[in-house]
Amino acid sequence: MDREKALTIVKTLKKTYPDAKAALHFSNSFELLIATILSAQCTDKRVNEVTGRLFEEYKKPVDYLGISQQQLEQEIRSCGFYHNKAKNILATCRMLEDEFSGMVPKSREDLMRLPGVGRKTANVVLSNAFGVPAIGVDTHVFRVSRRLGLSDGKNPEQVERDLMDVLPEELWSLSHHLLIFHGRNICHSRRPQCEICPVKQLCNYYLTNS
Ligand code: SF4
Repeated sequence: MDREKALTIVKTLKKTYPDAKAALHFSNSFELLIATILSAQCTDKRVNEVTGRLFEEYKKPVDYLGISQQQLEQEIRSCGFYHNKAKNILATCRMLEDEFSGMVPKSREDLMRLPGVGRKTANVVLSNAFGVPAIGVDTHVFRVSRRLGLSDGKNPEQVERDLMDVLPEELWSLSHHLLIFHGRNICHSRRPQCEICPVKQLCNYYLTNS
């Protein structure tokens, strides 16, 4: 897709979703990291319910290291996949303490070394906690980008690369939020509401299927 068209899509989505921003609640990079690990296969609303209690009790990596995995599992149970998530959170806290003086690292490479942290999570933390331009490609960003024709990538990394190619750096982080909002509100996975979509005249999927 040409850059001008991509820019028009982003500008239109910005008008449609003027409040697009991270839905996860956090007050620092560590909280965002934990919330993002918990958000895998779980709604942001549920994660916010769980972290509302969790972050009251545990504020730093060392606080988590004082409890057992079983105890943490109980605290985060409703987020699903609680066994693996608890294991990853504790291992991540251990590494943060041992290698990063209890701080969340600011490089993608270091973030991706943390257990339970893939490229999407690293990008979300970089972008939302540290203001580094990055595009976390989750299921919404992947689906909506491909439907619109912003990318024909076959995996999240290819889609991320295409989006970074076609959009100016200063719009990367905002575009991530806009594409998520659009995926949640109109461009649903099963039945996209193309008839009310503000970018349908720019959308490959719509133009091909209408
Ligand atoms: S026209 Fe349909 S498929 Fe395209 S972005 Fe809008 S809702 Fe999604």
